[in-house]
Amino acid sequence: MALDRFGRNIHYLRISLTDHCNLRCVYCMPEDMTFRPNAEMMQDGEILTLVQLFARLGFDKIRLTGGEPTVRANIVPIVRGIAGTPGIRSVSMTTNGVLLGKLAGPLAEAGLQRVNISLDTLDPERFRRVTRWGKLEQVWEGILAAEAAGLTPVKINVVVVRGYNEADVVDLARLTLEHAWQVRYIEMMPFAGATDLQLRQVVKAEEMQARIHAALGPLEPANGGELDGEARVFHLPGARGEIGFISSVSAPFCAACARARLTADGRLRLCLLREKEVDLLTPLRAGASIDDLRQIILDGIWLKPWGHGLADGEFATNRVMSEIGG
Ligand code: SAM
Ligand code: SF4
Repeated sequence: MALDRFGRNIHYLRISLTDHCNLRCVYCMPEDMTFRPNAEMMQDGEILTLVQLFARLGFDKIRLTGGEPTVRANIVPIVRGIAGTPGIRSVSMTTNGVLLGKLAGPLAEAGLQRVNISLDTLDPERFRRVTRWGKLEQVWEGILAAEAAGLTPVKINVVVVRGYNEADVVDLARLTLEHAWQVRYIEMMPFAGATDLQLRQVVKAEEMQARIHAALGPLEPANGGELDGEARVFHLPGARGEIGFISSVSAPFCAACARARLTADGRLRLCLLREKEVDLLTPLRAGASIDDLRQIILDGIWLKPWGHGLADGEFATNRVMSEIGG
């Protein structure tokens, strides 16, 4: 078991499979983003070796993310290898959905269990503006393919940015009336240097709830009022799906954090919003023994920071979101 010094059992690993992406969302990366050379990234075998190590330390839940995980070469065999690792109970993915139309079936067959798909608006023009060139219909096709492949319950991640899509909150909530999806609104985290977006463009969960309530009626707590992962969940009266709010900025969930992250270049990142990282890839490539690597991971987890400092205006500046995986 990997415990931190605050007694939290860290057993959920989010792996960034690549920093590359086929979109350029305005809140995530600049249009002229430059990416790491392939040699600096974890290779397929290195990913599987590290997953085996984490699994032996009690990690049982893996989420694949990026950049865009579906643009990684060999994504289907990578998923198959991770899903087949003894001790891993759950494998999910966060994706922009663009390639899911063709990949949802093979990924499900390889052992992927669920997907979170990012979709910030149902308006094709606004979708293009937020993603800089994305085509809404591809993502829609991806969502339907994911559902048909059994990657359920489908969760839809919506980052709300003032001046871009705050008016779309209601239309996206309306989807839950007919579809058994969970639409989750995420407060934007303004990453220094990565984008021109500012703290004042953050739309707080409270405002999103008020917009939904005014248009569609009261939100009733779901999940017994408990957090579902990092989201507080509700449903509209009679709805098939759920609505979640991830209030990282206004109401952090650090006390219940059970996660660590592996960056695409093989660093163990202990908090999304803190700069502290532990290099695993360099010792792995230098031939470190399994016992040495195990100890490096355990020592790193022990020093996991208590929480982030967004409320105090403290931002990590050494990485952008696409390198860490969100
Ligand atoms: N490309 C995939 C996608 O978009 O779903 C996975 C990687 S993306 C970095 C993971 C999640 O982080 C997405 O839901 C995305 O919307 C979210 N995200 C990216 N930049 C963000 C920001 N500045 N604040 C909050 N969420 C952000
Ligand atoms: Fe790509 Fe996801 Fe970042 Fe959008 S949020 S640019 S899809 S990595």
